[in-house]
Amino acid sequence: MKNIYLETFGCQMNVLDSELVSGQLSALGYRFTSDINAAQVVLYNTCSVRELSEQKVLSRLGRLKIRKAGQPELVIGVIGCMAERDGVRMLRRLPHVDLLCGPGELDQLPALLENVLVTGKQQHALAGNTSRRTHTLEAVEEDGLELLDLSRSFSPVESKFQAYIRIVRGCNKFCTYCVVPYTRGPEVSRSPQAILDEARKLVDAGCLEITLLGQTVNHYVHEETISAAGGPALRRTTFADLLYRLHELLPELPRLRFLTSFPADFGDDILQVMAQNPRICRYLHIPAQSGSDRILKMMNRGYTCESYLELLERARNIVPDIAFAGDAIVGFPTETDADYQTTRELVQAARYKNCFIFKYSPRPGTLAIKRYPDDVPEALKRERNNDLLKVQNQICHELNRQLVGKTVTVLCEGPSGWEGTGAADSVIAGHTTVAARPMAAVGEAVGGSGTVELGPRLAAAFLPAADKRRQGAVDGGRVQLTGRTTADQIVVFDGPPEMRGKMVPVRVKAAHGMTIFADVVGGV
Ligand code: SAM
Ligand code: SF4
Repeated sequence: MKNIYLETFGCQMNVLDSELVSGQLSALGYRFTSDINAAQVVLYNTCSVRELSEQKVLSRLGRLKIRKAGQPELVIGVIGCMAERDGVRMLRRLPHVDLLCGPGELDQLPALLENVLVTGKQQHALAGNTSRRTHTLEAVEEDGLELLDLSRSFSPVESKFQAYIRIVRGCNKFCTYCVVPYTRGPEVSRSPQAILDEARKLVDAGCLEITLLGQTVNHYVHEETISAAGGPALRRTTFADLLYRLHELLPELPRLRFLTSFPADFGDDILQVMAQNPRICRYLHIPAQSGSDRILKMMNRGYTCESYLELLERARNIVPDIAFAGDAIVGFPTETDADYQTTRELVQAARYKNCFIFKYSPRPGTLAIKRYPDDVPEALKRERNNDLLKVQNQICHELNRQLVGKTVTVLCEGPSGWEGTGAADSVIAGHTTVAARPMAAVGEAVGGSGTVELGPRLAAAFLPAADKRRQGAVDGGRVQLTGRTTADQIVVFDGPPEMRGKMVPVRVKAAHGMTIFADVVGGV
């Protein structure tokens, strides 16, 4: 059987897609390798959100062209958003690419691959910008994508006891800068029963933290006709209902998260469910994008800076220990210094735990590229980006320092291999993936981020002893471990390797920059 090398770019949606694809292909007998040279099939699961992500894939494809000249049987596939966005043009431009598969067609990947292997001819499965694969909410239950989501395999240790479940596919928002509605199609909420079944399977397999995924996850709503005593009735499940049901039906699941929330129409019902159900993580990733109402309007975001900050205030009142994460775009067309200052002020007021900051990247097919010239010079975008990063890092340091002396419970992920460095690739479950946290393309991420994926050098600089224990080197039976708090902060502490997969109370002893160090409460 063939060896497959699969590399993933982009957000958690792509990480999840790769997990599903590898589960599906492994079940058919394919093996996965992290050594591209040992692979007979190379697949790139791509992201189109910013140009840089696409350039990375193009440069990898360029290198493979040379290899394929000497190894014609090598199969090269591009799956995900870039395949959908570029379409068959890519097959014409890059004739050494054998296979294209859009994110909405991934259930067809095994057949495409098989066809390439048998016929040696290029194959593709793409939704096309206007076609809608699934027209009604109910039809989704029967389509192959649903089966793909339900047929996953889960390995607790490799997955660090965490798993994603997609609850909303696609997006209807059409923010003017964004390709996602074009590449991932219309918004469809999966049935609550399918989500519950998937969650139950994951929990039974040892999963300790489930993250519900959607581009606008709080807009989840599912309607179905059920038979009731007085005849057929319509059952409506909102996001708050779904959260509540998952929390109730999975009492042994210590943590339930969700990503990414959209700031408009964020109901108090969701916040109330969070407040009343402690196993729902105190964490809201809720991108503002800009602090300027004029720019927000041009972006078609549907809220103002004031209403956004009011929402954060409301959330803090209802869920007092909540932490926020944000995304911001700098250098959107026509952004003046004054506009940028409002974004800076918004970031200061929001006091995010982390904020992923992006320079505006004009994307083909979007309204922004058609309507507005990309008129903010690159150097100015970079300057604003770096400045905002500094603001955010300062906030992150302050928030981390406030934790010193406090006891927090972390989900221990295992020895701190420091394998992800933000920009570096890491190997997860036999396939290579670019470490991802935000619902944003990573690898190019320039987030003022509280994530310790940036850790090895930082930790070594701030605490040299930590570096010695890197890669889980044993120190009196103890290794350096990492765990995450409910607010998604990464904490480093020493303990026995068997702590992996346990909820561990730790007392924070120091916060150096973005890294939090702690001792296990009661000692080990
Ligand atoms: N659905 C989420 C939301 O609306 O908050 C975000 C999803 S989007 C894939 C991830 C992030 O990428 C966005 O929040 C935005 O900050 C950034 N992004 C999207 N398109 C971009 C573009 N053309 N240029 C720069 N950043 C972009
Ligand atoms: Fe949808 Fe988010 Fe893109 Fe807006 S930024 S179109 S909400 S995915």
